[in-house]
Amino acid sequence: MTVPLVDIRNATFDRGRTRVFDGLSLRIDRGEHAAIIGPNGAGKSTLLKALNRELYPRTRDDTRFRLLGRDRWNVWELRGSIGFVSADLERRYGRNSGDASVLDVILSGFTASIGVHGLLAESIDEKRRARARALLAELKLEALESRPFRSLSSGQQRLSLLARALVHEPHTLVLDEPGAGLDLAAGFALIRRLRYLARHGVTLLVATHYLNEILPEIDRVILLGRGRVLADGRKDEVLKSRTLSDAYATDIRVVRDGSWYFAAQGDTVNKL
Ligand code: ADP
Ligand code: MG
Repeated sequence: MTVPLVDIRNATFDRGRTRVFDGLSLRIDRGEHAAIIGPNGAGKSTLLKALNRELYPRTRDDTRFRLLGRDRWNVWELRGSIGFVSADLERRYGRNSGDASVLDVILSGFTASIGVHGLLAESIDEKRRARARALLAELKLEALESRPFRSLSSGQQRLSLLARALVHEPHTLVLDEPGAGLDLAAGFALIRRLRYLARHGVTLLVATHYLNEILPEIDRVILLGRGRVLADGRKDEVLKSRTLSDAYATDIRVVRDGSWYFAAQGDTVNKL
């Protein structure tokens, strides 16, 4: 039997005084792309941050929280297997990266730090630079290499952070609202890149509010809400107008175009 990527049983998560999940159980296999949806506050980011080892469930005897079969990880090791990208990370970078260039930011992926502060110059060896530059070229960002990260557009910053997550060639990418705030061209550029990765051996776990970010390659959708998993299954089973209308407490009509899904509302104008 293969070791699951995520194996959570009976996990309780608190954030401040809020109990986000009570007895959450979830299993995601390695190589299984999945989307995580649900209203604001449903716990999507909490779950993804737990996968990134930024927060932990309460310890109880019957709780299990394993990644790739292990209870314990150090963050350096984890980065080699699971990369992480979020709009939240981008905001933190925007504020804290100072004059760090795009190349600096990508190189910082090797040390999992923000910026290059405290990074030993000798640890940025040529091999790492070459890898960072190759990623820049792949993402068509090479012209921006020396620009300060904070001067980039949001779309360029998001792609740079994707490059940063990819320095270790992780087999899994965890993405928290990857397309939030991007214009159509930047959003599509990101989607193209994610589809490419999904087809080349990278497992995607994507939390999103946009159904069109549930890429054709992703077949499993986990709907969170009211502190639990409301629905979990194949995309065509979970992305039903009724299921989503109930979860989001508003009238949602799921529209399908081939293997893409979109959300619309019925003709609600008369009800305003
Ligand atoms: P989502 O990503 O689905 O919008 P989150 O995981 O961010 O949801 O939040 C889940 C719940 O935890 C929400 O009720 C939110 O208000 C609460 N929460 C999130 N972050 C914090 C925090 N740093 N301190 C206190 N409560 C928090
Ligand atoms: Mg969130």
